[in-house]
Amino acid sequence: MDYNKLANLLFPQIRKTPEDYEQMYPPRKLPEGAKVTRLGPSPTGFIHLGNLYGAFADERLAHQSGGVFFLRIEDTDDKREVQGAVPMLIQALHHFGVNFDEGATMNGETGDYGPYYQSRRGEIYQCFAKSLVAQGLAYPCFMTEEEIAAVRAEQEAQKKNPGIYGAYAKCRDLSFEEVAERIGSGQEYVIRFRSNGNPENHVTVVDGIRGPLSLPENDQDVVILKKTGIPTYHFAHVVDDHLMRTTHVVRGEEWLSSLPIHVALFQALGWELPTYCHTTVLMKMDGETKRKLSKRKDPELSLEYYKQEGYHPEAVREYLLTILNSNYEEWRIANPEAAAEDFCFSTEKMSNSGTLFDLDKLNDVCKDVLARMSAEEVLLYMLKWAEEYQPGLAALMAEQRDKMLSIFSIDRGGEKPRKDLIYCRQIFRFISYFFDEHFIVEDSYPAEVSMKDAKEILNRYFQSYDAEDDNEAWFAKVRQLAADMGYAQKPKDFKKNPDQYKGHVGHVSNVIRLAITGRTNSPDLWLIQQIMGTEQVKGRIAQAFQDIG
Ligand code: GLU
Repeated sequence: MDYNKLANLLFPQIRKTPEDYEQMYPPRKLPEGAKVTRLGPSPTGFIHLGNLYGAFADERLAHQSGGVFFLRIEDTDDKREVQGAVPMLIQALHHFGVNFDEGATMNGETGDYGPYYQSRRGEIYQCFAKSLVAQGLAYPCFMTEEEIAAVRAEQEAQKKNPGIYGAYAKCRDLSFEEVAERIGSGQEYVIRFRSNGNPENHVTVVDGIRGPLSLPENDQDVVILKKTGIPTYHFAHVVDDHLMRTTHVVRGEEWLSSLPIHVALFQALGWELPTYCHTTVLMKMDGETKRKLSKRKDPELSLEYYKQEGYHPEAVREYLLTILNSNYEEWRIANPEAAAEDFCFSTEKMSNSGTLFDLDKLNDVCKDVLARMSAEEVLLYMLKWAEEYQPGLAALMAEQRDKMLSIFSIDRGGEKPRKDLIYCRQIFRFISYFFDEHFIVEDSYPAEVSMKDAKEILNRYFQSYDAEDDNEAWFAKVRQLAADMGYAQKPKDFKKNPDQYKGHVGHVSNVIRLAITGRTNSPDLWLIQQIMGTEQVKGRIAQAFQDIG
């Protein structure tokens, strides 16, 4: 068979040769050891934590080696495409500190290795498919869906491996005349790769994360170009990552099983394999069992969740680094002030069995990250979040800027800063009692204090409160008030002689705390009152007094 003639019959419009593309996209001029990585999302509009996890790995590998990190849009499946998904993706990743050097941008593309949208690369794929056909390594297949289903049924009945391979690949050896005739009569066809693999043999690939992998060779004649001339993932990946000179392919473990196909395609095209780095899926604990994070069950899988809740991007980044590299946490303890970029990221330290994602741990990291920031930084971050997600709140916070700064300054800095700020929505809930519009009573009065006493405590406190008192003088007054009403001045006195007292000063001050903050747990009450000012403090006490009835 004259394969060249067949190639020209199938692709008469393709004039360029593989060499033309090799020249158009020469090896990159980068320093020795520089890595080229890419993110290849489908524009479905859903960006999840797994994407960010992979993107961090890509970003670190490229940027810490002086290489290039680019964005390629894998939009060959137009059914899944969502309008505006690309800018959304770029912005979402940018929010978490992931920036690309090349590829798709907010408005267009940049770089010498494009187009970076697979949908714009049709001619390139066709050129390489043509070249494979011309070498007898690919062929047109006219099998209909019904024929393929029949093959599958037969294979099932005979307990054979499913798929189009060997004798099941019915169009492998059609003559030129037959192909020409079928095309002439308008029959549709795909282009299949002619596999010469044998699953009894194994291919070895050294994965950047998993080390040496031994996988059965591919024997399937996989489709490389669909009926529409659009490539399948397998073919687009191989062609693009070669021509875009990707050195490290970081992708999800769901691609491991098709790796032998990719190896065979790289070999057939005469190209060098990139280093594959197959990441693990993100898991979570669900009761006692570990399971995959699920789009349906776990809102925290979506990146949007972290933006909406107002997680500080630096905290998310910090946490993801701890699950990306097993030695990150240790490094962080030794280098508490260092920039995350100073950490030497490596694929060898990545997990190769389900990575556990733990929201509680992320929250702990957030507390640490926010505790390191200045009050101004926290305020700015809150304002930015509120402008987007709670404009009413943004206005309130901007109006009461000084008050906000004082609130965020409570126990900030120093040896042991308070660590109760986690993410914006939680932070606002946490400080909401400072604002009358958002004040709610969450807890109840201590059991040790009768309602009658509570009223009396509030009444006396109202009379004696003086914002001029310093912390010590203020607390001395509370102690006195407690003593006057039959409560121990010190908890330990009450513990020693519980029969002598109704309760202790802590119970009394919790009555006051509840009236002022709506909670029985808060930062230093004196400081809170200083920030609130006499009017608000007295207003709260009077309101609580009235509410008791
Ligand atoms: N479009 C593929 C995906 O979304 C990309 C996989 C890859 O990185 O090669 O899974």
